[in-house]
Amino acid sequence: MNKESSYKKRSDGREFNEIRPIKAKVGIVPSADGSALFETGKTRAIAVVRGPRTLHPQHMQDPLKGILRVNYQMMAFSVWDRIKPGISRRSLEINKVIEWALSEIVDLTEFPGSVVDVLIQIPQADAGTRVAGLNAAVMALAQAGVPMKEMLSAVAAGKIDKTLVIDVNKEEEDYEEGEGSTDIPLCFGSFSKKIYLLQLDGKISIENFKEILKMGQKASEKIYKIQVEALKNPGKEVRG
Ligand code: UDP
Repeated sequence: MNKESSYKKRSDGREFNEIRPIKAKVGIVPSADGSALFETGKTRAIAVVRGPRTLHPQHMQDPLKGILRVNYQMMAFSVWDRIKPGISRRSLEINKVIEWALSEIVDLTEFPGSVVDVLIQIPQADAGTRVAGLNAAVMALAQAGVPMKEMLSAVAAGKIDKTLVIDVNKEEEDYEEGEGSTDIPLCFGSFSKKIYLLQLDGKISIENFKEILKMGQKASEKIYKIQVEALKNPGKEVRG
């Protein structure tokens, strides 16, 4: 930890590289083709997958492969201030970044003219909802049997003043002292270790950036193990 940083102890007592308690469960919506829950601390994400099924209207179909559609939404009472339902700039951005990450691993060449819908709902939010949503979505897609090149595991890293942390909570995200808070959502491929999502809103040195990628990758490996354990035991809540 940087000695000059004003953020010397985490607000919830965690180590700087420690993820919040995780819960993961596959098969939470029996009528769906795939479904999963991924929870980290007070952030909870539910993903439901429908498809591959024929896409209507027909003019939207791709004759060469199936298409993937992502719809992310925070529920109205997921945070203290009620969220206005419907599309916002933020939800559009999150849909896009999740869709971009998933499109890289999902292979729908066997399903021309079809669609796979991924619905992500956030019933409770305490920062890191896009990465929790992505983790749940990948598990739901795997359960649905959608062909994928590899799994994805995502985590929100951050720099709180000068301190690098993993799995940023809302209190940390709102930190204003010193350099304030920089949120860095990251997503890694389970085999390739490729980065499929990286967003950075703020300033960070190259050394800190390299360090945070290492910390993020280690955390993603822990998350991957929990996702796999949940996939092997549908209906069972796996904790980590
Ligand atoms: N948030 C909120 N109201 C909103 C949007 C977000 O209270 O309209 C909170 C929520 O806890 C969310 C956090 O702010 O998890 C951080 O949001 P951000 O846009 O950074 O995305 P996230 O970290 O959830 O992926």
